[in-house]
Amino acid sequence: MMQKKRNGPLVVFVALVIVAMGVSLAVWMIGKMPTRSEVPHLYTRPAMNTEGELRVLVYHDMEGLSGQDDWRTFDFSYPEFYQKGQELLVNDVNAVIDGLFAGGATEVHVVDAHGSGNPQPDILSDKLDPRARQVFRDQPFRQYVDLTEPNVYDAVAVVGMHAKTGSKGFASHTFTLGTEIIINGRSITETELIAYSWGRVDVPVVFASGDDRLLDDLKDMNWLEYVVVKEATSASTVNLRPVDEVHAEMREKARRALENLSRSKVMKIVEPVEAALRVVPPADLSVLRDVPGVNYSDNRIDFTAKNFQEAYDGVIGTIRVATRAYPQILREIVSEQPNGEQLLLQYNERLYDRWLDYESGRWQPEQQSSPSTPRKYFGAR
Ligand SMILES: [Zn+2]
Repeated sequence: MMQKKRNGPLVVFVALVIVAMGVSLAVWMIGKMPTRSEVPHLYTRPAMNTEGELRVLVYHDMEGLSGQDDWRTFDFSYPEFYQKGQELLVNDVNAVIDGLFAGGATEVHVVDAHGSGNPQPDILSDKLDPRARQVFRDQPFRQYVDLTEPNVYDAVAVVGMHAKTGSKGFASHTFTLGTEIIINGRSITETELIAYSWGRVDVPVVFASGDDRLLDDLKDMNWLEYVVVKEATSASTVNLRPVDEVHAEMREKARRALENLSRSKVMKIVEPVEAALRVVPPADLSVLRDVPGVNYSDNRIDFTAKNFQEAYDGVIGTIRVATRAYPQILREIVSEQPNGEQLLLQYNERLYDRWLDYESGRWQPEQQSSPSTPRKYFGAR
């Protein structure tokens, strides 16, 4: 009893020392713990298909094409340029498809990720390699996130892609003009957006083509077979590479991408996701500056999302706000017209009429009617 009593303070002392050591170890470990911007995602190996299938989904955009040096080639509003863009597009996509089949692909599907304004897909269906199939759905779908399902594809390839906003690549942007998407502290490209989306079901992005700036944006994806199609000298000017040379490299690298599929990496986003949208002209977010509950600072909105899908939806919703600033340019153009002042007065009158007519019950917004004839959807619209 006596001894026990005398050992009491010693036991307490030893216990305190152990607790103190534990606390300092924990503090040290937290200090050492990587932050989300250091480890925005984890890498895993792709789940290899054992059924002898090798199904590839090809996304195509339209700004990173070989032989392309004019932005009007990717906008449906300029038919004579756009038609040239369509030719360039199908030629790049076909070279990649050829390489994929040479690399062992058993199925290749192609989906439009551009959105030129054409009510039809940008790819010329009758010129597309007949071994490949275009993705169509009966319902509108968001090509980056709604196709992602387990066990449908084994690899993803991306063609005609562009660098991210701020990178000074040819037509560099992320999702749309003047918007920059930041995920777990890193500004990402659309190619990485696709990699995160497919990372959810363990499918890797294995091939990409675009300009030299995009290659730089994607240097962390060092397993990627990448074809530089042109060198950007500004966001609207390039030095082109000979197209035949680019196509030969596309065939070779697309083949190699599938042959080395087991050595590629899946990108799994770390959750919860710290997401942000930062914008530059012609987009603008300053309209949200004084909105309570919105984490706004310097044309940037930050938020935390529980997973990739929630982050994506939040970013796209914020993009819809940011692009509301585009028509400011229309106002500029109108005011420069000889009858500009008169047009702005008409605008003012229409604005008052809309208010007073609605307030008086004379005017109602038109109801969105669903199309009566069933139609096919092909991705980006
Ligand atoms: Zn595009």
